[in-house]
Amino acid sequence: MAVLNSPPPDTATGRSLPYARQHIDAVDIAAVVAALQSEYLTTGPAVARFEQAFAAYVGAPHAVAVSSGTAALHVAMLGLGVGAGDEVIVPPLTFAATANAVLYVGATPVFADVSPEALLIDPASIEHCISPRTRAVVAVDYAGQPCDYAALRALCALRGLTLVADACHALGAAHQDNPVGACADISAFSLHPAKHITTGEGGMITTADARLARRMRQLRNHGLSSEHSARTDWRYEMVELGFNYRLSDIQCALGLAQLSRADQWLARRRALARRYDALLADLPDVAPLPQLEDRTHAHHLYVLRLDDPSGARRDAVFAAMRQQGVGVNVHYPLVHLHPYYRRTLGTDSGLCPVAEEHAQRILTLPLFPDMADADVERVVAALRAALERVA
Ligand SMILES: *Cc1c(COP(=O)(O)O)cnc(C)c1O
Repeated sequence: MAVLNSPPPDTATGRSLPYARQHIDAVDIAAVVAALQSEYLTTGPAVARFEQAFAAYVGAPHAVAVSSGTAALHVAMLGLGVGAGDEVIVPPLTFAATANAVLYVGATPVFADVSPEALLIDPASIEHCISPRTRAVVAVDYAGQPCDYAALRALCALRGLTLVADACHALGAAHQDNPVGACADISAFSLHPAKHITTGEGGMITTADARLARRMRQLRNHGLSSEHSARTDWRYEMVELGFNYRLSDIQCALGLAQLSRADQWLARRRALARRYDALLADLPDVAPLPQLEDRTHAHHLYVLRLDDPSGARRDAVFAAMRQQGVGVNVHYPLVHLHPYYRRTLGTDSGLCPVAEEHAQRILTLPLFPDMADADVERVVAALRAALERVA
């Protein structure tokens, strides 16, 4: 049995293949060691250096480093002054943190459906969700494919709403010639190990609004009006209720080292995705999500879709591939169907029919820069065998 089920080893590690994995090498280790030996472990010069480099990379005037992508979304809501009585429109096909950040500030997430082709938030559905209480729309660049930011910006401008990008999948992506990070009023990134670059845990917020950036910098540090390094005496003032959402110098040093390789890793993700596309072309009943025109995809996730809308076939393929040591996954269980959301907001199936149908059909295949070409071939062979077995 053990022999029959023995997983195809991941070429890099000899272990079974995960769906995502960080790249850490001597460059990263040297950067972290240097930070550990420096004067500042936190709130030191590496923070501003990382923020400036990140802002430049995504073409945004300001970047604010925080302790996670979730903190980035929370601080974005706080910075916008969203609170009790307000509504924020979010898609259901995302990590729960997108909507949780709205709840953290006492506001209500309202779920707009996604479009069937690439599963991105549907502007027509957003229109139906707008009420006098709506303050903002959060767009999620699902799998790394940017939303139609031109359409979303126009819609938000017309309706007086703020556009927030949950860009946690989309570092390096672009809509037309605009990099994600400079497409919305505020963009939130995650630096979790499963994402494009990592600081262990971490996040980044980008904006073109200098006042908003200053406010968000204050909110990540207890609501204090000055940072420790900028003070000349013991005095400081807490001017609003903030949080300790700081990112340490150790983490920022790692982030800087990682960012210097971001383009190279993105190119590798793209090449691996092309290889999957080619190998999957002759498999029946499965198709990758399409890549839309006018967009640079960041290939965070490689998501394919099966034909069976009941989900039974997807679940059987999932189980068969996991048994073969291939770390397939499903992104995501829909947020509005989580027990907490059902219980507290009364959301239920039928609210977002497109997302609900496609959530039964999607499957995420392993994708990360250190995957070998042979790993892609093994994943597709395992998929082919699984499809035949569960036909
Ligand atoms: C990863 C992720 C988050 C949360 O980021 P953390 O750094 O894990 O807090 C939020 N939204 C989306 C879409 C994500 O993929």
